[in-house]
Amino acid sequence: MTLVIEGGLVVRRLFPPLMERADILVAGTRITAVAPRVGEGGKRIDASGCLVVPGNVNGHTHAYSALARGMPLGVEPPRNFLEILQRLWWRLDRALDDASIRASALVAAKDALLAGTTTLIDHHSSPNAIDGSLDIIAETFTHAGIRSVLAYEVSDRDGPARARAGLAENERFIRSRRWLREPLSRPMIGAHAAFSLSDETLQACAGLAVETGHGLHIHAGEDAIDAGAIRRLAGAGVLDNRLLIAHAINVDADEAADIVEHRVAVAHNARSNMNNGVGRARLGELGERVMLGTDGIGSDMWAEASAAYFRQREERVDAPTEWLTAAMAQGSAFVGGLFDEPQLGLIDPGAPADLAVLDYSAPTPLDAGNLAAHLVLGMSAPVVRDVIVAGELVLRDRRLMRVDESEIDHLARRQARALWARFEDTPVHAFEPLTSRASLLAGSR
Ligand SMILES: [Zn+2]
Repeated sequence: MTLVIEGGLVVRRLFPPLMERADILVAGTRITAVAPRVGEGGKRIDASGCLVVPGNVNGHTHAYSALARGMPLGVEPPRNFLEILQRLWWRLDRALDDASIRASALVAAKDALLAGTTTLIDHHSSPNAIDGSLDIIAETFTHAGIRSVLAYEVSDRDGPARARAGLAENERFIRSRRWLREPLSRPMIGAHAAFSLSDETLQACAGLAVETGHGLHIHAGEDAIDAGAIRRLAGAGVLDNRLLIAHAINVDADEAADIVEHRVAVAHNARSNMNNGVGRARLGELGERVMLGTDGIGSDMWAEASAAYFRQREERVDAPTEWLTAAMAQGSAFVGGLFDEPQLGLIDPGAPADLAVLDYSAPTPLDAGNLAAHLVLGMSAPVVRDVIVAGELVLRDRRLMRVDESEIDHLARRQARALWARFEDTPVHAFEPLTSRASLLAGSR
């Protein structure tokens, strides 16, 4: 089965940018040729007048939050980051069951593909439905046709039994090797944040990472309550190039230097940081492995990049646009490492065919020199016309090919109603950041 994408302006590489007008031949899961004309035969997609770009990567998200849009809290509004967790997210995650996890994953996949996002790096939490949750998400994402990296969020906040179950879920998913049968998924080891992990639990996560060779995916320095997280991760022996940390706002200069020295990957979530009022990462100090994530605010990486750009400009009015396309390329490079596909994110012969056709008519000259400005300031999800993941056309003329959008919305609304009712009955979480082993043993519920 071959597919030819004809006559588009092809962004072969986001950073440093490389563009040419060419046809793209896809055979099986890969791009096999990029040339002015790639011959006859196969299924053909007319991309004349379109921009063809590598698929976007969402470097840190929580599909489980997809049904929370518009959900009433029913309690006093939170006044700080910890209260946002206690009153919203740590109530929502305890209200999840298998059916709502599946519905959330379907909505997350739909929103991502419609925005040209071909990979989700997901961080999942469902303390009352832990066992098998990663299988549900892997199946659902694979069914929708999106690539993913999955992890279960280990935490001590819901007590030692759930911490052990979370760790076991990561281990089970890795050892089941089900991700080899569903080749669009890869595992990481999820952990919530240093402030909700005892030394013993963090060490157990680190041990699993070392034993299995899979990296840790963890929030670090999102708020002042998580200061010192990088030092603790260093102490646990996981500070290396497989580690993915989200946020990295409250890190001191020594910790930032460690992030750079050990080539730690960082997911920058500008909209989430603004939404939670937690401050801004000092991006210039965090090295080259910074990618963009949404932290669960959908998967429109164009919107995320645009917001990140304006937030950065507010801070530093001479900040260029290019760091955003560099960050988008980093997302692909990170995922490529996990899939053993070093060409992921390139439109080159041999690369996995993960790409999007954008119906974008540039109102000003467009070339490699100003591509970043067009992508950051001119794009939005509605310009995404077709999406290919691992060689398969999964979005065609803005219609999903493998799943039915209206069915997803119908199912999601029904699941959301039930989830919201359970949420209403779930008390505000009483967990406070760990300051000592004693506070952990005193119990979290
Ligand atoms: Zn997060």
